[in-house]
Amino acid sequence: MNSTTQSAHHESNIHILLTNRNGGFSQAPYHSMNLGTHVNDHLPHVLSNRQALANRYGLRVEQFVYMNQVHGNSVAVIEKADGTIPQCDAMVTQTPGVVLMVLVADCVPIVLSDPSRQVVAVAHAGWRGTVSKITANVLNVMNDMYGCQSQDIQITIGPAIGRCCYQVGHEVIESVHQNCPEVISALIPQGDATHFDLHAANRQILIENGINPNQIHQHQQCVCCHSEQWFSYRASRGRTGRFGMGVWIQ
Ligand SMILES: [Zn+2]
Repeated sequence: MNSTTQSAHHESNIHILLTNRNGGFSQAPYHSMNLGTHVNDHLPHVLSNRQALANRYGLRVEQFVYMNQVHGNSVAVIEKADGTIPQCDAMVTQTPGVVLMVLVADCVPIVLSDPSRQVVAVAHAGWRGTVSKITANVLNVMNDMYGCQSQDIQITIGPAIGRCCYQVGHEVIESVHQNCPEVISALIPQGDATHFDLHAANRQILIENGINPNQIHQHQQCVCCHSEQWFSYRASRGRTGRFGMGVWIQ
């Protein structure tokens, strides 16, 4: 088997899921496919949504691992789905059947996969995670733990708040300058204000860590401009649900 055939074969057993806000049980302001248990939604509705998601992909809810996301940059290595909820903002696994989930409403959900080493990962990158280079941390763990090479890693950057809607203040601007000057170009002046392009910033960090642009697949839609389709924290002034992106090895 040549390497091209092998790669194509492996790619077919790595699956990515992306939900939006439609088709669930939750009532306003969480209508309707809210997957977050931490946003004061009625818990039975959230659990029904998670069950519906599992059913949609022929999976069991017990296979899913959700994080207790804390806007940090730590990466958990997951060996099995045992009901544990790790406190972290990224997860990596090599175990088939374990569905790694990231939940967002404006922050950037990112899936990373290495078809040749059979390793998958998710990351949650709001401005704090972005500036603390959580994506670089994930790449390092994939390399250190599993020997993944950057040229083999495929990246999907999911829907998030666009630069059009993401005006930021001094705290973000100063943090970029102090902690992550390589993404200063993602700070965009708009009149007297400054906007931050989270997609561009994460893309830049990935490229600086050896990822070729043609390995990065990006959703362009702004969730704040399209809050009828996606949950957006800013569009809803904080009271809203969470949509999810996930990845698993079959
Ligand atoms: Zn927008």
